Amino acid sequence: MAKVAVIGGGPAGLLAAREICRRGLDLHVFEEDSEIGSPERCGGLLSLSGLERISAPKPMKYVLNLIRGAIFHSPSGHEFKLDARRWVAAVISRKGFDRMLGEEVEKMGGEISCGVRVRDVERIGESFDLDLGDKRFSADWVIDAEGMSSKLMRKILESSTDRKRWIPIIQLTAQGHGLDPSFVHLYFKEYLPDFFAYLIPLNEEVGRIGIATKLKGLELRMRRFISEEFPRIKVLRRISYAIYVGRPTWTELNERFIPVGDAAGHVKATTGGGVIMGGLISMNMASALSELELGNDPNGYVREARRVYRELKEIFHLRKLIENIPIKFYDEIFKLADETSIGDYLRRFGDMDFQLTSLKKIVHSPRTMMKIISSILLSLLK
Ligand SMILES: Cc1cc2nc3c(=O)[nH]c(=O)nc-3n(C[C@H](O)[C@H](O)[C@H](O)COP(=O)(O)OP(=O)(O)OC[C@H]3O[C@@H](n4cnc5c(N)ncnc54)[C@H](O)[C@@H]3O)c2cc1C
Repeated sequence: MAKVAVIGGGPAGLLAAREICRRGLDLHVFEEDSEIGSPERCGGLLSLSGLERISAPKPMKYVLNLIRGAIFHSPSGHEFKLDARRWVAAVISRKGFDRMLGEEVEKMGGEISCGVRVRDVERIGESFDLDLGDKRFSADWVIDAEGMSSKLMRKILESSTDRKRWIPIIQLTAQGHGLDPSFVHLYFKEYLPDFFAYLIPLNEEVGRIGIATKLKGLELRMRRFISEEFPRIKVLRRISYAIYVGRPTWTELNERFIPVGDAAGHVKATTGGGVIMGGLISMNMASALSELELGNDPNGYVREARRVYRELKEIFHLRKLIENIPIKFYDEIFKLADETSIGDYLRRFGDMDFQLTSLKKIVHSPRTMMKIISSILLSLLK
């Protein structure tokens, strides 16, 4: 029976592992941290449709809050409220989510070794030799879900994510935000030109507050943001990490070493969110390699993974477009969005994950576009 090694026990690795175990292949996950789900480095905002798409573990005890929309704040404080008028997203505990995924993998017969770092990988003919420090492990396939560092991917494939497009981020868990917990808040500031600041509420009191930028002085910028927007909060916890806002990578199945998740840049470049879209590619590539091993046609799964990858590539191009809009225009853009029917269409067609597909639905409907253009013209003539 084919042996598959998964490097990294984050969501991308565990979602792949579940597909492999489901089909009865010999599966081993190696996770360098001492337990699955810790330390937790995530805002935990996931769409409900995405949770369905990845068949998230049930019961969803890890859901801490439900979200029905977003409020965008321009630099001068103008607000644009996008209210879906139904629950569209959940705020989760990644610790709880990752652990339940790990339990599912183990129940299906997969082995997970925590506290084991894969130090090196070598390709030997059709198989791989993994250096685990005190022992070695031989595998026919490797799913590389090592997250940000993508060190092993660089070694085996001589390619990786674009290092310049990882943005340092600080995220606080803080008490006392005092805002409606059913909306996330996105703040655009001149002193944060390359990413927005956010509040993801857990309840009326506690929320996750994040800021990210490649500019110097991230800590000072965080303090400035807090003093402007949340002067009375009490900080309970703090993490520093990085998020990816670059181009995704693609690796063909015949490499037998398949990078997935953050390691492969399978992240929405507009928001840095990677759990759902990274998970979908990961699940499909894992299903494809398993079906191939079982003598079946893997192409349906590869095509589905490619579809998600293409969406991420287009989202990256959307981000590049947005990067060219000077932040001083955000006031006008949010005002326009507020005064016209754009919000209605985003509410009806918007998808937090397949962002480009939903924009195309709007653009490709001449009737919708006419209505939007006329409402923009009316607003400009006011
Ligand atoms: C502050 C912050 C907020 C975020 N908010 C959101 C959000 O709201 N929604 C969203 O969808 N995404 C969010 N993201 C992004 C999301 O966390 C990632 O996209 C997601 O965790 C990627 O999953 P992964 O499995 O690819 O990598 P990871 O979750 O990083 O897991 C990789 C695992 O591999 C292990 N590992 C690495 N190297 C080795 C090795 N050599 N041997 C063994 N183990 C190894 C690591 O210990 C780690 O556990 C956020 C990220 C940050 C930093």
